[in-house]
Amino acid sequence: MATAETLTRTTVSHWIDGKPQPATSGRSGAVMNPATGEMIAEVGFASAADVDRAVASAKAASVQWRATALSRRAEIMFAFRDLIAHNRQRIAEIVSTENGKTLSDALGEAARGVENVEFACGVPHLLKGGYTEQASRGVDVYQIRQPLGVVAGITPFNFPAMVPLWMLANAIACGNAFLLKPSEKDPSASVLIAQLAKEAGVPDGVLNLVHGDKVAVDRILDHPDIKAVSFVGSTPVAKYIYETATRNGKRVQALGGAKNHMLVLPDADINMAADAAVSAGYGAAGERCMAISVVVAVGSVADPLIEAIRERVARIKVGSGLDPSSEMGPLITREHRDRVASHLDTASAEGATVAIDGRRDPTTRQNGFFLGPSLIDNAKPGMKCYDQEIFGPVLSVVRVNTYAEAIRLINENPFGNGTAIFTQNGGAARQFQFDVEVGMVGVNVPIPVPVAYYSFGGWKSSLFGDLHMYGPEGVQFYTRAKVVTSRWPDPSASKVDLGFPQVR
Ligand code: NAD
Repeated sequence: MATAETLTRTTVSHWIDGKPQPATSGRSGAVMNPATGEMIAEVGFASAADVDRAVASAKAASVQWRATALSRRAEIMFAFRDLIAHNRQRIAEIVSTENGKTLSDALGEAARGVENVEFACGVPHLLKGGYTEQASRGVDVYQIRQPLGVVAGITPFNFPAMVPLWMLANAIACGNAFLLKPSEKDPSASVLIAQLAKEAGVPDGVLNLVHGDKVAVDRILDHPDIKAVSFVGSTPVAKYIYETATRNGKRVQALGGAKNHMLVLPDADINMAADAAVSAGYGAAGERCMAISVVVAVGSVADPLIEAIRERVARIKVGSGLDPSSEMGPLITREHRDRVASHLDTASAEGATVAIDGRRDPTTRQNGFFLGPSLIDNAKPGMKCYDQEIFGPVLSVVRVNTYAEAIRLINENPFGNGTAIFTQNGGAARQFQFDVEVGMVGVNVPIPVPVAYYSFGGWKSSLFGDLHMYGPEGVQFYTRAKVVTSRWPDPSASKVDLGFPQVR
């Protein structure tokens, strides 16, 4: 397994049956250090046969695991939680090295992942069903929730530790065996997580890991022994995953891309709004699904807000994520950086104003995949910079005259992941919460990622499926309900009754 110290031309392996196992496809991908532009490891891609091997191992392990006492499963989750917390620096270093985000951001990611495992430690309580005594005379009815069997998760590059934990903590605690297919761009954090799960007492096969691309994903989507698929990634792939896996009879939650609007009303505190826009727009180089990508400035607030953003951007230090003085790291690949930067040209051509051009940042002359923070003013629907998810450090400002215009803009956008309002008026914030067609809403909070005991999910093209991820809806997703109706009558009173059972 690759660690921060040994990430030099190592090969990242699958993790099946509690040990590293090589890929058999003969195909592999390069794992890059985005801060230096160098290849640091190779990851073997799974063949369909590798996926089959992992599923067979998971299926066998799931039989004993679902029969394991809840108190024992909780005990293992507690140990897992402690091991992840204890190893958070190691996890963060791996994430920062392969993904590029700053170490402090990666530590934050690890901390949010720990919270998901903490939630799953409460599994004995979470799986408590309901019981109705005397539903009819001498008849009791109760509901229990049982695991699905083998379930799978497919995760994106931008949270290589947290998103796997969003899924696997609840899935395993509920008694399932989990197969993870992490992003091939930064696969090593998930190997460490699997190793820590084993150390915590998760039996071999209950957590398996295969690396790879569409070949592995497609086998997951059509494997008959996989009962449910959780996905987080871009909208086109989310839609494909949802359509394919549901057609194959699986339960699916597929979280997609985003275009998160931050609405700033004229009464907002300009400095607070600018701090929030800069933090949420450029943190993690804009590679967060909950990043603010559009500031909707109402009326007179636009000019002073842009000025305040400009002042703050000028002070942002871009550099390697492992350098403690860096506030913003590189993007994930050279191609992605170039695609993000190309939006600045397109925006000008389409009539918007490039107010800050991140291509002028000195780091762009280095080998890493850097782009400085950029700001586009006068963006509008119909322009590429507004219509597409950019997923980089490019913040757009749309100027509108009224709240009504702003809410129409946000509700007409096909994405509905996160949004925020900045105002000092409680009534306006309450109205926004009521009106807005978005799944996660912040009031003076720019990145409203729900805590682990709520659930995470957007609306519209940001989520395909009914149930949101982690928290109570995660438990629902990874279990199915069974309702039992029982009676213990005196057999001597038994008789034939062809009528439909009625409550008496
Ligand atoms: P991606 O869709 O390219 O990849 C996600 C996963 O799908 C990876 O494991 C990848 O190997 C696999 N994949 C990619 N192309 C595939 C294909 N054609 N067929 C089958 N599998 C395929 O996403 P990414 O670039 O890794 O991550 C960034 C995207 O994820 C952004 O759009 C971001 O908004 C989104 N995201 C959303 C959330 C959310 O909660 N809604 C959270 C994080 C990231």
